[in-house]
Amino acid sequence: MSVIDFPTTHHQGFSVFPIAAFNDNYIWCIQTDGSQRGWVIDPGDAAAVIECFQQRQLLLAGILITHHHRDHTGGIADLLQHYGDAVPVYGPLNPSIPEINHTLISETELRLKGVDGEVLHAGIFCVPGHTLDHIAYLIGNALFCGDALFSAGCGRLFEGTPLQLYQSLTKFARLPESTLVYPAHEYTLSNLKFARTVEPDNQAIVDYMREATHLRQQQLPTLPSSIKRELVINPFLHCTDERLTTILSQHSQQIADSAVTRLKLLRQWKDNF
Ligand SMILES: [Zn+2]
Repeated sequence: MSVIDFPTTHHQGFSVFPIAAFNDNYIWCIQTDGSQRGWVIDPGDAAAVIECFQQRQLLLAGILITHHHRDHTGGIADLLQHYGDAVPVYGPLNPSIPEINHTLISETELRLKGVDGEVLHAGIFCVPGHTLDHIAYLIGNALFCGDALFSAGCGRLFEGTPLQLYQSLTKFARLPESTLVYPAHEYTLSNLKFARTVEPDNQAIVDYMREATHLRQQQLPTLPSSIKRELVINPFLHCTDERLTTILSQHSQQIADSAVTRLKLLRQWKDNF
């Protein structure tokens, strides 16, 4: 297995780079400036993290988990075995993730403490919908949103209600436009195909599709995105205004007369797209 060296994104005081896992997962890594330790978010695959960290001569500072799905949590146990039990694991309250030793149960701002005095300042958001336990981390202006928000899309409704998903997406939409968005999957191109169908007159979707296609042809990530971009091209963030009413009503043969109903119908359409 060889680790592809993806581009690093620089933020104030830290940088972020992805490790590819499985077919289309990204395990995002945060390295604070000058540190020889890195944090990983949603390590579904321990071997990919260990190999990348060996190449970069990094040790593990801590683990952040967004929700309970196996492709986000499956590597935790092996990482703790490899790097030692002193590594903190932050995540939601869920008995199905027994390795979590720092439970985050409410929306708050806090200092995440890692190994060797490593500290990350994080805002925690509870964003149920895809799953009920889903949380997101805002670190500086970097949003790690797991499967709650994708570029040009959002996660399937496995456990939550359309209202919960709507409220969660609204939290993201209210973040500063300069916030960079780090979802856990490379779904951008397939999401854009759906977005183009829903909003055929949205030129920004067509332009972004061209840009994303070019990046994928070079096997580069389309991520991070930004809140500024998502507000323009992500139809799941467009349910508050009525531009989607006609097409959704036509497609579903139901009356798409509220934002939550529009989101529900949009999600159902995408599930079968
Ligand atoms: Zn998931």
